[in-house]
Amino acid sequence: MAMIIDGKKISAEIKEELKLEVAALKERGVEVTLAVIQVGNDPASTVYVGNKKKACEFIGIRSLAYELPEETNEEELLRLIDELNAREDVNGILVQLPLPKGMDEDLVIQRISPKKDVDGFHPMNVGLLNIGQEGFVSCTPAGVIELLKRSNIEIEGKECVVLGRSNIVGKPMAALLLRENGTVTICHSRTKDLKSVTKRADILVAAIGKRGFVTADHVKEGAVVIDVGINRNEFNKLCGDVAFEEVEKVVSAITPVPGGVGPMTIAMLMKNCVKAARIQNGI
Ligand code: NDP
Repeated sequence: MAMIIDGKKISAEIKEELKLEVAALKERGVEVTLAVIQVGNDPASTVYVGNKKKACEFIGIRSLAYELPEETNEEELLRLIDELNAREDVNGILVQLPLPKGMDEDLVIQRISPKKDVDGFHPMNVGLLNIGQEGFVSCTPAGVIELLKRSNIEIEGKECVVLGRSNIVGKPMAALLLRENGTVTICHSRTKDLKSVTKRADILVAAIGKRGFVTADHVKEGAVVIDVGINRNEFNKLCGDVAFEEVEKVVSAITPVPGGVGPMTIAMLMKNCVKAARIQNGI
């Protein structure tokens, strides 16, 4: 029987730890503050932003919500980011993606001060991760590392395969596994004979956005499988990139969807906010 890695439980532990940390910072006169900007009213984004606000409230982080109308122009958004960059009482800035059509996401991300880039998307932070220096790391892959560590799964020396090479998941995931001394391979849509690569993995991270793509014949017996995918099945139920039922029978540990990687993303965002506040206040 595979160990089911419980992301809900682990993320709850992290949030409890952060609650104490935030309270201790408050006693020292630091009120951790996150500014969340949403442009337009994409329903999925509204849900994500709402969940982030709820997590802030639970932990004791002050959240400032900026809900801008769909027709906001890029200049106005950039001006708001400049303002928030300059405010000493704002520690983290998050712009909910995707932005409405016509806005240049790269330009917007690059406008956020790297010191307040709690999403870890700014090229400066991406670069710092890749040269092995301290910065902010993209929350979902950081959450995967935390899941592995808190489940006592060793990464060092392990054959790690990452399925997917996006800037927010696949690439930083590979960089983090490498930082933990894994031997890392990245696969993507042009990879040849994918199964022969994924079958080598001691740790397989699936982040491609294709429901049930990873089947039992993609995995080695006893492997650890982390499912980042968030998809919907024909009944509109959440499901991952891994065919859980059949893969679970072969592997030693696996994350479920929902309740695996998903809850970790927000927990790591909160962790980045606290880190930003500490760095900015020299604590
Ligand atoms: P992207 O669509 O940006 O990237 C998908 C990647 O998968 C690409 O690199 C693509 O390759 C690769 N890919 C697609 N099809 C195949 C295939 N048949 N074989 C091999 N590789 C393939 O997605 P994201 O990285 O943003 O997200 C991936 C999944 O993770 C999604 O389901 C998303 O919803 C979920 N997600 C979950 C989060 C969470 O909090 N749990 C947070 C972020 C994302 P190529 O580059 O060649 O096109």
